[in-house]
Amino acid sequence: MTAGAARNTTHDPQGMQQGASVGPVDDARLRAAFAPVREWVFDLDNTLYCASRGLFEQIDRRMGEYLSRLFGVDRQQARIIQKDYFRRYGTTLHGLIANGEIADPDDFLAFVHDIDYAPIAPDPALDAALAQLHGRKWVFTNGSLSHAEQVLDRLGVLSRIDEIFDVKAAGYVPKPHAQAFDAFFRRTGISPASAAMFEDIARNLAEPHARGMTTVLVRHPANADADSLHAPSAGCGCRAGGDAAMSHPHDDPQGEHVHFRTSRLPEFLQRLIDTGAAATTATTATTAAKLQDTNEGKATS
Ligand SMILES: [Mg+2]
Repeated sequence: MTAGAARNTTHDPQGMQQGASVGPVDDARLRAAFAPVREWVFDLDNTLYCASRGLFEQIDRRMGEYLSRLFGVDRQQARIIQKDYFRRYGTTLHGLIANGEIADPDDFLAFVHDIDYAPIAPDPALDAALAQLHGRKWVFTNGSLSHAEQVLDRLGVLSRIDEIFDVKAAGYVPKPHAQAFDAFFRRTGISPASAAMFEDIARNLAEPHARGMTTVLVRHPANADADSLHAPSAGCGCRAGGDAAMSHPHDDPQGEHVHFRTSRLPEFLQRLIDTGAAATTATTATTAAKLQDTNEGKATS
């Protein structure tokens, strides 16, 4: 898409504009916020591909099937356990581990990722954007390495990614937990101030924000898990022993830990390239940390 086309503003009552720009002032904010970024960190599922592809629905069903067999319960009861663990522990797998209910996490991961990847089509726009971003590109996923490789291969962007950091590399502790990010930064050695995090679940941006990363929430339609957490009454699993019945500000897609929001990642990245934010040196004094303080850096694109 051209830079001119990216400046067409589209009204969106939910505040998630369909890849539209918000004008020249916001281009300046983008340029300032992303100028220091040399490390591009992407979540995988429902971030690098659209949730409407239905891939995560397949994984969701496989999780339900696994839990149904594990606990000897029907699918409805299994789903209740599955979503309770997702909300309280970050992922279903982490809930199983925390409660001593699973001996082999890799067996779980292999089972739930035994799916049909055909719905994922090549994404030339994403490939082109990743190719032009200056710096290293990472995938940080709560899924497995083999799952990430298959998705990235289907998207046609596997060669653009420098390294995949999966949940096994994090010791099976998933985002949004701080330990997962501790492991990620230890492994990669990147400086948060020079990094940006792209995620479809708002609570997974709380730690990146706290550590000084620039954060982008990628919202697609039909993202049931994200929508369940982003609802006003949703619970949050980011605190050990947290009460699932209580809402938490980290679940809020409008929260201060979310610097930018987009519903079209390739076009958002292209805007960074078009504005020069991804290719210039870090000469601006307006950093992501400053945006956190003022909370003026929010934009939708
Ligand atoms: Mg995701």
